[in-house]
This record gives sequence, C-alpha cells and structure tokens, in this order.
Amino acid sequence: MTLRVGVIGTGAIGRDHIRRMTQVLKGAAVVAVTDVNAAQAQQVANEFNLQAAVYDNGLDLIRAQEVDAVMVTSWGATHEEFVLASIAAGKPVFCEKPLAVTAEGCKRIVEAEAAFGKMLVQVGYMRRYDRGYRVLKETIDSGVIGHPLILHCAHRNVSVPDFYTRDMSVVDTFIHELDVHRWLLDDDYVSVQVVRPRRSSLSGEHLNDPLLVYMETAKGVRINGEIFVNCKYGYDIQCQVVGETGIVSLPEPMSVTMRSEAKLSNALLTDWKDRFIEAYDIELQDWIDATLRGEMNGPSAWDGYSAAVAADACLAARDSGDIVRIDMPERPSFYRSKHSESAAEAIR
Ligand code: NAP
Repeated sequence: MTLRVGVIGTGAIGRDHIRRMTQVLKGAAVVAVTDVNAAQAQQVANEFNLQAAVYDNGLDLIRAQEVDAVMVTSWGATHEEFVLASIAAGKPVFCEKPLAVTAEGCKRIVEAEAAFGKMLVQVGYMRRYDRGYRVLKETIDSGVIGHPLILHCAHRNVSVPDFYTRDMSVVDTFIHELDVHRWLLDDDYVSVQVVRPRRSSLSGEHLNDPLLVYMETAKGVRINGEIFVNCKYGYDIQCQVVGETGIVSLPEPMSVTMRSEAKLSNALLTDWKDRFIEAYDIELQDWIDATLRGEMNGPSAWDGYSAAVAADACLAARDSGDIVRIDMPERPSFYRSKHSESAAEAIR
C-alpha cells in the first residue's frame, strides 16, 4: 500500500522531505505539491520526477481526492490554517514545527482534533528520533544515574539569515529544546527566567544573542540552556543530564579524528540538515508506516501546544527579566498516547 502525500511548501525542508520520500523511504508517493512560489513547486516536481499535480494553494491540495495525507512545510505563520483544514477534511497531517506561531493557535488545533475524535496531527520534532537522544532517554529511564537533577544544554548555529527576528531564537530555534526536554525528562515546565549576557558584536544589533534560559520543571529539575545563533564555529547541539549518581551526555556526531600539521582534530558540522539527517529519515518513515496502519503516534498536537506555551513564557521572561510562571493546562486523556515507545520502536 502506498501513502499518497500532498506537500504544502517546497522550500528548504519541504524539498528535503520530498527527496527523502521519493529517494530514501518506502511506502509514500508525493502526488501533489504547492507553494506560494508556483514556479518553485513546479521546479521541485520536475527535479524529483514526481507524477504530481501542482496546486494553486494549500487548501485546494488538502481537499484533493488523490491526497491521502498532508505534509505542511510552508512558512510557520501558515501552519495553523493548513492543519485545521486537514483536520476538517479528516486527513492525517505531518506539520513541521511550529504547529502554530502562538499558543492560542495551537490550542485551536488541539480543540479541533479532539472534537474530530481521532488523532491526525504529528509535529516535526525530529530530535525524539535521533539515536543520541534515544540512548540518553533510555539511560535516564533505566535509573542508572538516579533521578535527574540538572540539565545543561546549548543550541548553537553558525549564523542566521537577515530575516531572522529577535523572537525566532526562542520560537524557531530553542523550541526544539523545549520539546525534547519535556520528552527526555517526562516532565513539564513550571517557570522560566531569561538572562541576556553581553551581546556578541558579530550578531545583528536587533538580536539578543546569546541568551541564557533557566527553567524549572514540575519535578524540580533545573534546566540551564544557552541559545547562541551566531556562534560562528559550527552547528552544535549539547545536552547533559546530571543525576543523583552519575552524568549522561548527548553523544557527539560521528567524526573522524585527524592528526595533521601538529594538531589533533575532529571536524564539526555546520548545517542542521546534516546533524539530524538520520532522525528526519526515521521520523518520516515512522509517520508513513503509522499512517498506513491508521495510527498516529509521533509528537502530537498536544506536544506542539506545550512547546508553544513554554515558548510564550520564555519571550515574556526575556522581555521582563522576571521569573515567569508556566501554567500548562492538564493534558486531556485524548492525548495520553504512547508516542515515546513508538519513537523507540521506530529506531530499532
Ligand atoms: P523556507 O525555505 O522559507 O520554505 C518555506 C516555503 O513555504 C517557501 O517556499 C515559501 O514560499 C512557502 N510558503 C509560504 N507561505 C506559503 C503558503 N501560504 N502556501 C504554500 N507555500 C507557502 O523555509 P524552511 O526552512 O523550509 O522552513 C519551513 C518550515 O519548516 C518552518 O516552519 C520551519 O520552522 C520548519 N523547519 C523545521 C526544521 C526542523 O528541524 N524540524 C528545520 C527547518 C525548517 P516563499 O519563499 O516564496 O515565501
């Protein structure tokens, strides 16, 4: 059986997901594409030899008969409309992060999905499918380091484009940490404080770069996070969990150790696409397989909503300098899914 997918947005990640669905993964065919830049949609369809209709807009694509499932990889501000339309059409939808650009928007999606009565939405939080994060989680869950007490993390990008706004370091970049740490610790956030260190002279003047984010979870774990989006030296994701009897750290990506010219060195990655390339493959294969089975068990709309609530609190904390409470509504039973087990199975 083949899952017939319609893709909305053929920019960087849309094109990359089309590449993996057509050249790497099994069980899916891209049968429809659309982009506000129609010429680009056509060009991507040609590049990958797709037998796909090029639609004028996302809503027509969602309603198209030949589309079994929708992939939303357009600009973040368009996600809510396309996800809501997919739910209204009763079609499974994989939506790249963010689920919506505000917590209110995510809440509308959660409510629409619950009213529909079946989970249809998966959010593109691919780190849950990364082998390093999986091993980290399995080690924490085994109890070998006792209860987690402190989590240190860093999200560093070489640089960001000119259109990158001040809020994006939280809502676009740190949002991955906001999702993956809830999952890693099986916990929710209760407060956040954001501190601005000296600004890097190599960052845009409109940015607060770097930023330090201090969070507390319901179980009392303290998170100490660094966001540095113009670090210049590489794309570097760090995570270390300090427990009662030991410390576990996210493994570094595999890299050859070189001895040359009186130096011992390891190359660092510079592109997010390379850092998580395997995680994206596993994530989408799992989505295709689960959707064909009529299931939905990856990161849910509730996870997208939770990350958005935390992101809003981070922005308020950054602007006020205060410790801001994070009030997460109680998770409805509708969303008590087994997504973490599913991610583990997908990797095995
Ligand atoms: P991008 O290169 O700008 O691609 C977005 C594409 O969507 C562009 O071609 C854009 O056209 C198009 N678009 C905008 N509005 C549209 C609409 N109403 N209907 C159809 N197409 C529309 O951006 P990207 O880097 O691929 O990011 C896309 C989304 O994926 C973002 O939400 C981003 O946060 C997310 N993302 C996730 C990850 C991850 O690690 N999971 C990584 C990268 C990106 P124009 O360029 O003409 O506006």
